[in-house]
Amino acid sequence: MTTHEENAPSVDSEETIGFERTFDDGERLVLREKPADGTPAAIVALDTASCTGTECPCHEVELLAQPLYLVDGQIEEGEGEPLQALLDVESGELAVETAPEPGSEAETLLARLRRLVQGETLELLQERWRRGRKQEDQDEWKESDWSSIDLEAMVPFLEIFPSRWDLSVLVGGRKYWIVDFWCLAPDCPCSQVALDFLASDDDTSEHLVVDLDAMKPDDPDASETALGLWAAFYDDPYAAATLTARREATRRVARELPAHLQA
Ligand SMILES: [Zn+2]
Ligand SMILES: [Zn+2]
Repeated sequence: MTTHEENAPSVDSEETIGFERTFDDGERLVLREKPADGTPAAIVALDTASCTGTECPCHEVELLAQPLYLVDGQIEEGEGEPLQALLDVESGELAVETAPEPGSEAETLLARLRRLVQGETLELLQERWRRGRKQEDQDEWKESDWSSIDLEAMVPFLEIFPSRWDLSVLVGGRKYWIVDFWCLAPDCPCSQVALDFLASDDDTSEHLVVDLDAMKPDDPDASETALGLWAAFYDDPYAAATLTARREATRRVARELPAHLQA
């Protein structure tokens, strides 16, 4: 699972504001099925693409399932053909274009997928569908409860645009969620973003301030771990563009917010 609940401290340590968040970066899910009959656990990679039409009435998420295998402790993709299916998030039903041949690997995979896409996983995909529709929504911030957001402190992006995919970085097989905090002072010339790296498998976290003009850490107190996490994140070819886009989006909010709060 790529999500879990997290209580993250705000950058202002005097007054910690906890928030509940089911993190999701919209990327590949790895699902495990441990059959009750004692046969080895099956691992399935699930890539999803949901309808992004903000006004579209459909409830569809395209799924691409690929069996994975454990080879010497490492997860590897199998030879088998990936299976394409369409999930209706409202009914939870899975549809395939042509029914797989009886006794085929595809049939086994489809049956497995039907067992896996239930309960928490179905809820996760429903939430993913809901968030998918709002990725392009430039005005989602207007729906936030600004009376509960401390504008004196830097504001987490997830409180401004809650539906946008969360940022993440994978280091040494460990996944970290990245919570980015932004200055919303209208005319502030600062060029910083504060990043919290939250380990997805325990309660540890690292903190780092980055200067966005230089795209470099600007933080004398940063730990080696935090610098390493930044380096791994920045290694992603989309990292700089993503932060730049978030900077532009939050700058626009900073400019429009005073009028919005008076209205
Ligand atoms: Zn649609
Ligand atoms: Zn500022």
